[in-house]
Amino acid sequence: MSVPHYPLHINGEWVDTDDKYEIRSPATGELVATVAKGGVAEVDAAVAAAKAAHAEGTWRNTPPAERAALINDVALRLGGRLEELAALQTRENGVTIRVTGALHIGLSVAQMQYLAAQAAEYEFEKSGPAIGPVPAEGILRREPLGVVAAIVPWNIPLLVIVWKVAPALAAGNTVVLKPDEHAPLIALELMKEFEAAGLPKGVLNVVVGDGEDAGAHLSAHPDVRKVAFTGSTAVGKSILAASADTVKQVTLELGGKGPNILLEDADLDVAIDGAIYACMANNGQACEAGTRLLVPSSRRDEIVDRLVARVGTMTVGDPMSLATDIGPLITAEQRDRVLEHIAIAEAQGAKVAAGGAAPEGAEFANGNFVQPTVVVDVTNDMRIAREEVFGPVLAVLTYDTVEEAVAIANDTEYGLSAGVWGTDEEKVLDVARQLEAGMVFVNDWHVLHPAYPFGGYKQSGLGREGGPDALDEYTEQKYISVDRSGGVENKAYALVLG
Ligand code: NAD
Repeated sequence: MSVPHYPLHINGEWVDTDDKYEIRSPATGELVATVAKGGVAEVDAAVAAAKAAHAEGTWRNTPPAERAALINDVALRLGGRLEELAALQTRENGVTIRVTGALHIGLSVAQMQYLAAQAAEYEFEKSGPAIGPVPAEGILRREPLGVVAAIVPWNIPLLVIVWKVAPALAAGNTVVLKPDEHAPLIALELMKEFEAAGLPKGVLNVVVGDGEDAGAHLSAHPDVRKVAFTGSTAVGKSILAASADTVKQVTLELGGKGPNILLEDADLDVAIDGAIYACMANNGQACEAGTRLLVPSSRRDEIVDRLVARVGTMTVGDPMSLATDIGPLITAEQRDRVLEHIAIAEAQGAKVAAGGAAPEGAEFANGNFVQPTVVVDVTNDMRIAREEVFGPVLAVLTYDTVEEAVAIANDTEYGLSAGVWGTDEEKVLDVARQLEAGMVFVNDWHVLHPAYPFGGYKQSGLGREGGPDALDEYTEQKYISVDRSGGVENKAYALVLG
């Protein structure tokens, strides 16, 4: 059966290359599409196109309200294709259709609309306070940076792209987007919509390529003024190091090891489902997942029993089915890595209370499935408590006092998300305020909202995406002082010239 082929998009043209990727469903191995594979030459061409488009100036000189309107138009176009795009996303990265519809496409549309609205109101130039004692007046400007590189992973591709591309374009920059080679189709569909909406050529370019080749070249390119990266902490560190040579701005959204604290008075009728959702949404492949569940020792057995019972009711399988809770992992290597993490946890003294293996049966034979897994008797020094597993694996730890729970929660190199469950709001908020994380969810999880910033403390990243200051991350500040007095009194030069 023939499948669609996607070329790259460079300087307003769809460009093919000699090599191509086969995009296969992680659930069945079925071929979904082929995609042109770009390398250093395509990255160079895309950066040159973006640089030329920025210099030519059509986009940066387009009134902000018109730029915002075009971004809004693209959001509406995506929204009109919600079901189709959610299905495509599920076929290429295996995330269940319930999640791709609501989170991947739905939230991305809302985020784009929010950023467009922010851009329409954004003060690109305003008068500042009088400068005194010199007779000058000040102007404050926000100007685009130039060429922005956006490098993204496969797990929630559209949302992480929108977080970068929408504010970058809204602020008048030009962009080279490098999607992940495992799930690039949504990025190319987004490109089609920007083209249809009339974005000038060279303003947005999409090059799919390998990370260590196209990605590394793009992130170190001397003509790139900013790199906006989402992905692993290891690659984020290499990008930060590479940025030093040409002093680029960098935004990093990296890994997490989210602590989820169930307080003594937590209502288990909501917190058990909530803890599973926190960890296993997106098939357990979410950076902001709550993967370390901290429970009071006094309630440990009751909580573990309920977690095990609930996990046993979950449906693993076809991600296109609305009945499925857990779909496949992105690759067979990732499935093996997750199973290895479970084995290491057992070797270090933890126990598997539920799941712990790949499911058996013909329907799982060609997919990268792992059963929803609960690992108990975990201590915070074990690898499963320290490293990202990126699969449906919940590690359960115990604590005796709230102070101890907070200390365990904060004892991690990450700081992206955290959560607290309890019925006494004052106590819950007191704990929430002590957690070292960019996002703290109280009595729920994955409550991402366009108007609130996404990002982490410590080695979970640098900078924030979305939220009220999103455009600040894509603009330079300029201060202009203007002396309109025409006189010589109070001039600053009197200090030197007398
Ligand atoms: P990854 O770092 O391997 O890849 C991410 C992107 O970087 C891909 O496009 C890849 O091709 C590219 N890349 C790889 N090596 C590169 C290099 N040397 N130079 C430049 N680019 C390179 O990430 P992954 O493991 O595929 O994705 C999962 C990771 O992403 C997890 O750690 C997860 O927590 C993180 N993530 C973070 C967020 C967030 O917002 N904090 C969101 C989603 C995913």
